[in-house]
Amino acid sequence: MVAAGMALAGCQYAGNPTTATAPTVRGGAPGSTGTTQVTPPGGPGKGESGPGNPAKPPSGQGTNKPPKVAKPPHRKGYSYRYGPNLTARVALTFDDCPRTLAEERTVLTGAAQLGIGLMLFPTGSCIHSKRFDAKFARSQGHYVFNHSNTHPLLTRLSYSGVLSQLGLPGVQSRYGRPPFGGWNNTVARAYAAKGMKIWLWTVDTNDWHGYSEAYLVKYVTRTARAGDTVLMHMQWHGFSVDALRKIQAGLAKRGLEPCRNYGEPTPVRSWKVRC
Ligand SMILES: [Zn+2]
Repeated sequence: MVAAGMALAGCQYAGNPTTATAPTVRGGAPGSTGTTQVTPPGGPGKGESGPGNPAKPPSGQGTNKPPKVAKPPHRKGYSYRYGPNLTARVALTFDDCPRTLAEERTVLTGAAQLGIGLMLFPTGSCIHSKRFDAKFARSQGHYVFNHSNTHPLLTRLSYSGVLSQLGLPGVQSRYGRPPFGGWNNTVARAYAAKGMKIWLWTVDTNDWHGYSEAYLVKYVTRTARAGDTVLMHMQWHGFSVDALRKIQAGLAKRGLEPCRNYGEPTPVRSWKVRC
């Protein structure tokens, strides 16, 4: 359970998307060799889960038998960290802003073709700078939720300041994710006033370190458990059709699957989210 006032480290952010240049945000221009990709120092330590020490598979999963289909955890309703997802499927969520509008279209179309439904949390600045088309995302069967306008730590703002951050041009939705996962009672009151519930995450890829696509694919496929919410960012290396295909395949080996894409437009504001 996350205590009020806590700021989680998960959602780091490299500048205002309206002013940051794409290569600086992503670390390497498209088509470059990705020289700024970071290899995790020594990988995760012993005893930690991660690509070096994969999390144990769900119990009852024999080495030679096909994996059992994971059962959903026992949750009766919405929670801060798991949001509204009560299924065993894994919610792949991407925050902030893609490098380009073209990239958004490529990845979201590709995800839909793979049958994956994504949960997207673009900033209002991102939408204002026309690097994210919420209507297009929804038309492709993905959900779009609020992630503030200019990505401040909301706990430092007044109540009216938070309200302003949750207004236009940001997405007006039923769920929202405060930047850096930071919230307190004032922030929670502002979300409630805007008719939103907070949706954080349960698996943090820390992709903003610049980890390679291969690392992120391994990390997600070996760490995610039934019903998890995985945090990634649209400007980093997990946001590609190739990464999504590999994550889907890797999860399948453990009897898991990402949230499905139901092949129809998603609602703008709905408490019900189909995963
Ligand atoms: Zn963010």
